[in-house]
Amino acid sequence: MAQPVLECKNICFSYHNLKGETKALTDISFQVNKGEFLAIVGPSGCGKSTLLSIIAGLLRPESGEVLLEQVKIGYMLQQDHLLEWRTIWKNVLLGPEITKTLSPQKEALALKLLSDYGLSKFKDKKPGELSGGMKQRAALIRTMVMEPGLLLLDEPFSALDYQTRLMVSADIGNIIRASGITAILITHDLSEAISLADRILVLTKRPATVKRELPVHLTRQEDSPLGARGAPEFQELFTLLWKEISDEYCGGA
Ligand code: ADP
Ligand code: MG
Repeated sequence: MAQPVLECKNICFSYHNLKGETKALTDISFQVNKGEFLAIVGPSGCGKSTLLSIIAGLLRPESGEVLLEQVKIGYMLQQDHLLEWRTIWKNVLLGPEITKTLSPQKEALALKLLSDYGLSKFKDKKPGELSGGMKQRAALIRTMVMEPGLLLLDEPFSALDYQTRLMVSADIGNIIRASGITAILITHDLSEAISLADRILVLTKRPATVKRELPVHLTRQEDSPLGARGAPEFQELFTLLWKEISDEYCGGA
């Protein structure tokens, strides 16, 4: 039986400021099972980041509930937010340092991840000496060192140029799959969603609600995100998603 790690039930949320109310989310319900990789796509400004902030507990829903298994959440954003004055090593150990959980085991885990992600040689460099893709990998290590049970990724590749993005997203996709970690990826890149996720949630324009859920079943020649792009079902899913999203843009305000 699939075991849910996260369940969102009828989530509604509005922002309030001096200009008035902006309704961002309305009646959002979905669940994510253990080990599942869920992608969320939707028109720009529809409320995707807001939803992730609610899941992370940074914002409180106006109504509805977030049921979360007792798990640690890892949150990775578009910018790598590495601290320029710290070495990569000191950056990846920032979480344990802040939470006072630094231990020889954590250091060993950080060393292993640096080696797995091909960054051992750059351990003593500063972020400014690394390429965009390497920095993003370092940011992922910093998140993974905290051993999260649920990984939230908010457009983590969008600051990268296209080629780096393909490589890094494939890379990170493989890492996440291999670790069996439960993940939610927000992306505006439909190909990225199809090639990485087990299931895709399509949101409507703001205020966002779940428009459609699409399972991803690809007959892959090669089990990798890049291999996924060659699967015969890929184009079909892409066309379907494209239509769902463009209907949102064209469907009037
Ligand atoms: P997405 O991530 O899908 O692009 P967001 O969740 O960032 O969208 O934002 C959803 C809507 O809420 C947007 O219209 C945005 O302008 C608005 N919004 C986001 N943050 C705030 C805020 N702090 N105050 C008021 N409105 C906000
Ligand atoms: Mg966003």
